[in-house]
Amino acid sequence: MQRRKFIKKASLISIGLGIANKAYSKNYKKTNSLYNNITPLVIATWDVKNATKKAWKIIQNNQSSLDAVEQGCMIEEANENGQSVGKGGLPDRNGNVTLDACIMNSKGDCGSVVFLKNIKHAISLARKVMEDTPHVMLAGIGAEEFAYSIGFKKENLLTKASKKTWENWKKTSKYKPVINIENHDTIGMLAIDNNGNISGGCTTSGLAYKMSGRVGDSPIIGSGLYVDNEIGGAVATGLGEEVVKTVGSFLIVELMRQGHSPQKACEIAISRIVTKSDYKNFQVGYIALNKQGDTGCYSIQKGFSMTLCQSNNNVNIKSDSYTT
Ligand code: ASP
Repeated sequence: MQRRKFIKKASLISIGLGIANKAYSKNYKKTNSLYNNITPLVIATWDVKNATKKAWKIIQNNQSSLDAVEQGCMIEEANENGQSVGKGGLPDRNGNVTLDACIMNSKGDCGSVVFLKNIKHAISLARKVMEDTPHVMLAGIGAEEFAYSIGFKKENLLTKASKKTWENWKKTSKYKPVINIENHDTIGMLAIDNNGNISGGCTTSGLAYKMSGRVGDSPIIGSGLYVDNEIGGAVATGLGEEVVKTVGSFLIVELMRQGHSPQKACEIAISRIVTKSDYKNFQVGYIALNKQGDTGCYSIQKGFSMTLCQSNNNVNIKSDSYTT
């Protein structure tokens, strides 16, 4: 797309989303004057209203944004119909489902698990790594053993449906991931609680039919997720290799620190990818929020969306994209 068109489009989107967000905050403040300028809210990648609804309930219950993102992500990890997260996720090319996840709290602490097998709630294990170990990241068998040692249950994550899809794929074994253009994929969630504290979580089974051992952006702090409680947070979905190369989520938070709106920051992070890669064959999408509760989302290709839950509104918002 020509640069001028891109810039014009970008500012229109910012205005559009700005209006939508203002409408939410106005309604919210009417019914919640108690919280003054604090704007609790939950956003997530893709159309995951059950997950955002759960997270919002946790916040209403006066629990932390950390509890909210963990429990929100758990909804999708347990949803066997979603083939990109938790149980039912599509396997690697050898037929093994391996999960990646990370979580970050408002104090800047974080935890992550990579190449995790047989444990459905990767997000909860990431939280345990953050809270109960001196480390930030555990991988593979070490992560799995840690899970059992603290009571997580071993589960076969490959469902009949995902096994069948994989067996069909094996007939040709063409590794051409038509990635994330229509389906929901990695679940990234950001929440602001009643104390104004921001946390984020990100969970995925990664690219379907990836090489054994491949780890994407989703468990890499700064790439798949980043939160700075003073500024805001961002999460990514899509082709992880491209997100890692540009450290996308950290970039977005730093752009917000420099004064950009969440929307503009997502657009700049996407433009960083498209100027460096042959972007026509893959998808990357970002969502972000700032401390004031303004939100943004943007992707390379059409088909991406963000779910936003605040007060009684739990809505899926279509993202605008670089290609049209
Ligand atoms: N970002 C994930 C990965 O690269 C995949 C996805 O969002 O679909 O592992």
